[in-house]
Amino acid sequence: MSIQSINPTDGTLIAQYREDDPSLVDAKLNRALNAYSTWKTSPLSKRTDLLRRVANRLREESEKHARLMTSEMGKPIGEARSEIAKCAWVLEYYADHSAEFLAPKETQSDGSRTLIRFDPLGPILAVMPWNFPYWQVFRFAAPNLAAGNVGLLKHASNVSGCALAIEQLFIESGAPEGVFQTLLLPASAVSSLIDDDRIQGVTLTGSEAAGRSVGAGAGSAIKPSVLELGGSDPLVVLSDGNPIEAAQAALTSRMLNTGQSCIAAKRLIVVPDHYDAFVTALEEGIGQLRIGDPHDETNQIGPLAKPEFVEELHNQVIETMSEGANCLIGGSLVPGPGSFYPPTLLVDVTESMTCFREETFGPVAVVIKAKNDDDALRLASKTRFGLGASLWTSPSRGIELAAQIDSGHVAINGMVKSDPRLPFGGVKSSGYGRELSEYGILPFVNIKTVWVK
Ligand code: NAP
Repeated sequence: MSIQSINPTDGTLIAQYREDDPSLVDAKLNRALNAYSTWKTSPLSKRTDLLRRVANRLREESEKHARLMTSEMGKPIGEARSEIAKCAWVLEYYADHSAEFLAPKETQSDGSRTLIRFDPLGPILAVMPWNFPYWQVFRFAAPNLAAGNVGLLKHASNVSGCALAIEQLFIESGAPEGVFQTLLLPASAVSSLIDDDRIQGVTLTGSEAAGRSVGAGAGSAIKPSVLELGGSDPLVVLSDGNPIEAAQAALTSRMLNTGQSCIAAKRLIVVPDHYDAFVTALEEGIGQLRIGDPHDETNQIGPLAKPEFVEELHNQVIETMSEGANCLIGGSLVPGPGSFYPPTLLVDVTESMTCFREETFGPVAVVIKAKNDDDALRLASKTRFGLGASLWTSPSRGIELAAQIDSGHVAINGMVKSDPRLPFGGVKSSGYGRELSEYGILPFVNIKTVWVK
């Protein structure tokens, strides 16, 4: 079977890859196990030196990797370059801090000494999505390789070129054989990988459906798992918030990566006093966005990653309009080749409408008028997701309100974004477990008690 990589800008075939056959998968798993037997006890400095070398090489080769990602999934080239820089940052962050995170901790008990150790587990499977095809991989790889685990990547099938380039980057940076490998496999192969005795844990970033399947597989195999799933983050402008600054943040958050970000502000909830100012500022901002070839630096909006995403998104927009929302910009299909969808602004959206209830994965801004502050907060929580939330209010009130928001991240007077220094992850249908920061190294380590009489 072959796996195809199609350029979403023009629909042309970039490359065709042969799926790994069972004997190759078996050989890769054995290689991972062999690599783990020495990697786990190698000095931490050797592991962190590798992360630094990969970071340096990524920076040197930034343009090559950025262009590959833009070709395979359509990310605007400037954003692709920023993504590469952020990957180098997360590698260096764990190179700098892993010694502190992994140092055995002395604690008190009835023993003469009691230590808590953080030992590696073994080969970890990472099932990753196409939307941040480098970042998602490095935010898994950096803490796990530092911790002494080895990585096996099953990347989204439409970004196989990125997956192979990342594997090559590790090899060329001097990673011992088997420390980081790419498996070219379809989603249907994941459950048997999770069952394989050589795999000790699995992390997935992707859709709810994939999360259910991977979570169930990990549960049945009794292996640790992390699930980073979808989101429908609210951005809430309260009566003491600044609607103009909020509209600017909403524009950036919603349109980044052509709207294909899990932590995009997907439901913009505004109190009546600020509604008109917010909508006017957002409309002006969206009206200035240029859509077109993502390799052209003057375009801020590229194609969606796959043609079927256009139909899915358009159906959500059409349904929401038929339910009573008004479309101020966009909302109609773009003629010509490529999977483009225009930046779209829907207003007068209510909680019963499709674009409120479902995650929208594209450049569609959805504005909801709340009755008052309490109603705005109620609407914010009216979702099965819980990834992030952005509150526009006074800092002290925002900190107080943060306790009431069911999400993994609350940003006050700013947009939700990931940062190597801060834990990242969700609650409810957005998944479980955390990545990044000190907390992101813990899901796949054995937190071991050593008690001495
Ligand atoms: P997806 O279809 O779930 O694909 C993600 C990965 O999972 C791909 O490697 C895919 O392989 C694999 N996969 C799909 N179905 C699977 C299954 N049943 N069992 C095992 N693996 C499976 O997700 P997507 O549509 O590409 O990505 C968009 C979703 O990811 C959105 O919901 C978005 O919010 C979420 N996301 C979340 C985060 C976060 O950090 N929380 C970050 C980015 C994206 P194939 O490509 O071979 O099908």
